[in-house]
Amino acid sequence: LQGHAENLCDASTRHFSSVPSPQSNSTEENGFKGHGMLAPFTAGWQSTDVHPLVIERSEGSYVYDIDGKKYLDSLAGLWCTALGGSEPRLVKAATEQLHKLPFYHSFWNRTTKPSLDLAKELLSMFTAREMGKVFFTNSGSEANDSQVKLVWYYNNALGRPDKKKFIARSKSYHGSTLISASLSGLPALHQKFDLPAPFVLHTDCPHYWRFHLPGETEEEFATRLANNLENLIIKEGPETIAAFIAEPVMGAGGVIPPPKTYFEKVQAVVKKYDILFIADEVITAFGRLGTMFGCDMYNIKPDLVSVAKVHLLMDLHTLAIQERNIPDHVKQISPRFQEGVKAFAGSPIVGEIRGVGMILGTEFADNKSPNDPFPAEWGVGAIFGAECQKRGMLVRVAGDNIMMSPPLIMTSDEVEELVSIYGDALKATEERVA
Ligand code: PLP
Repeated sequence: LQGHAENLCDASTRHFSSVPSPQSNSTEENGFKGHGMLAPFTAGWQSTDVHPLVIERSEGSYVYDIDGKKYLDSLAGLWCTALGGSEPRLVKAATEQLHKLPFYHSFWNRTTKPSLDLAKELLSMFTAREMGKVFFTNSGSEANDSQVKLVWYYNNALGRPDKKKFIARSKSYHGSTLISASLSGLPALHQKFDLPAPFVLHTDCPHYWRFHLPGETEEEFATRLANNLENLIIKEGPETIAAFIAEPVMGAGGVIPPPKTYFEKVQAVVKKYDILFIADEVITAFGRLGTMFGCDMYNIKPDLVSVAKVHLLMDLHTLAIQERNIPDHVKQISPRFQEGVKAFAGSPIVGEIRGVGMILGTEFADNKSPNDPFPAEWGVGAIFGAECQKRGMLVRVAGDNIMMSPPLIMTSDEVEELVSIYGDALKATEERVA
């Protein structure tokens, strides 16, 4: 593939007009260069040699940097501030709780009323399949690590000590701890960290645009992937495979909605071999797709579910999501979000724009082809990210993939602003990649 890409770069009709702009420079005068913090998802040198973008406050769908510059927060923090930055009830409840009981734990038989209330609330909200218990952790990564422990415990209890392997998918993202990074199917999370752990296997990424064979329909593609999954299970021995883990829509791998019939087919396979299905709903839960959970949208009936990204006073958060009827609001605003951005899919530097509800990915490529990536050193994705930032919008950049998952409380005007900044930033990027 590498050789292929090099040839294509040589043969490319496009050229690149200047070096990429830095992602962040608003705080240049504030003297944060050379700071002492090691930021996640950077190499060490990057986190100290690049001026960080220092965010100081938030208001609704916007955040402000330390110089007062305003940005439309099109990734909602890190896929998480679904209710934006200033839900007054959350601020009030957090303040009251901090005064009343800033901390207590839930080990043994001790706990707090908000924890019990939240467990009850979550069980009643998740209706794709009846769930029995909620186990609280501190993050999505820790939730997925705990899934592994729970599944191993379960199989030990059933006297099946060999049924311990996990199957995840290439390009999945399940977190940054040792085990959740092992489950993730992104090479950058493995290389130089001695991962993945040996009990983790990876099966195909369900990205139709990138991986379908000539003439293959989405349904045929899904059948082929389900067959590959079954062959992997048979090869490894079904008695050794404990669980399959999947995000309903892949997020950090580039926003990849499943091809038609995919979940129906892989669920049938795992069921056949008595393998547990874990739905990683860390991004898709609580209304992002226009249904309360991603499992509702794709008719997934999981054995275990991971949810997260709704921090601090989660019970209040879930109530606010229900009261504000977030899934219905998403149904109202998401068609314009999807259509508005997808209208730019004809751009000569865009390979594919994909998404559902309030989550969207853009992949840059030459000739509309997944086989014609732009040379990495051109930094096309980074240019686009910088052009958005210049115009007051923050997106996620991962190579030539751009990801957006804006706050779910967005107004129609804010959606228009997002689409307009996206279009202007794309035009400016096209001019650089002539
Ligand atoms: N699972 C998925 C699908 C995610 O997108 C993420 C984070 O983005 C995680 C797990 C990890 O969650 P956290 O960042 O809270 O550890």
